[in-house]
Amino acid sequence: MISATAYFLEAPGSVKPRTVELDALASEWVRVRFLYCGLCGTDLSAYEGRQEVSYPLAVGHEFVGEVLEVGDAVTALVPGDVVTSDLNYRCGVCDQCAAGRSHLCRDGAIGLFSNRGFADQGDLHERYLIRVDGPASRQLAMAEPLSCVLHAKEWADVQDGERVLVIGSGSMGFCLAFALWADGRARPFDITDTDADRLALVARAAAPIGTAVDRPDREYDVVFDVSGSESGLHAACDHVRPGGRLCTLSHLGGYSTADFLLEAITYNDITFKVSFLNGELETLRTAAQMLAERWTPAWDAAVEVLPLEDLQQAYERRRGSPWCKTLVRVAPEAP
Ligand SMILES: [Zn+2]
Ligand SMILES: [Zn+2]
Repeated sequence: MISATAYFLEAPGSVKPRTVELDALASEWVRVRFLYCGLCGTDLSAYEGRQEVSYPLAVGHEFVGEVLEVGDAVTALVPGDVVTSDLNYRCGVCDQCAAGRSHLCRDGAIGLFSNRGFADQGDLHERYLIRVDGPASRQLAMAEPLSCVLHAKEWADVQDGERVLVIGSGSMGFCLAFALWADGRARPFDITDTDADRLALVARAAAPIGTAVDRPDREYDVVFDVSGSESGLHAACDHVRPGGRLCTLSHLGGYSTADFLLEAITYNDITFKVSFLNGELETLRTAAQMLAERWTPAWDAAVEVLPLEDLQQAYERRRGSPWCKTLVRVAPEAP
């Protein structure tokens, strides 16, 4: 048996390291050494006490790491492989998995892991992991959030000539801007945020395809609300044209009743979607590949990187942070 040091949310506002004993690996499990891990909005809501969770809660599901050891039934991974992770488990046999909606697997919350990625190492069921070709670059820690925005983008199915607005330039807005910029279609889009620092960082990276706008008009064909806030969703309702498509990734339970929403979309023939998670596992592979192939220093310039000892402060500062995304360097020697 060996020990891992892993961070858990102990109570709202308190993230602390614990020692986790790792037994001999079960046959379908994989031991991973974590390198980088991103701070997720979902974990942040739990940190702020806006979500019902049971404590202690293992935090950090957006990671890139390296396989240390595999159980005897694992065939897709070998020690030394670079891996990134899915948020939820996919059983492969329930009705949702069978219907091609494995992100909504009935056993998604089964929790087949010893701990999450804010840790030196941990054991997970192999189904959480995908192998990534090439080096363990830190932007691969964003594969999971990127896969979630790709799922939303796929739903919106933007056509040539359509006007697109992204509301929000935090973690998810940043990922969506990257997805729209990197998909090879070069379809222009606008992005807006009340935070001028984050907006400027995204706009610099996404230029000339993405453009920052201060006062969007009300005639967008497709509006994505990735603000994580009630005010962002409210703004999205104002900027989508009648007959347009409105997709939100702000999951506002605990923050808002959004009672303005029904009125905003009722007489306007708006197609509305609350996008959740990332669709089939293939989306995660696509996301990892985009990050490996299309990432540039301009996108890096919008990312804050902190050491693991500063995790508590990272949570504390995330809301008002001038950076679009916060990554934690989990292994001190990681490149
Ligand atoms: Zn996440
Ligand atoms: Zn399932």
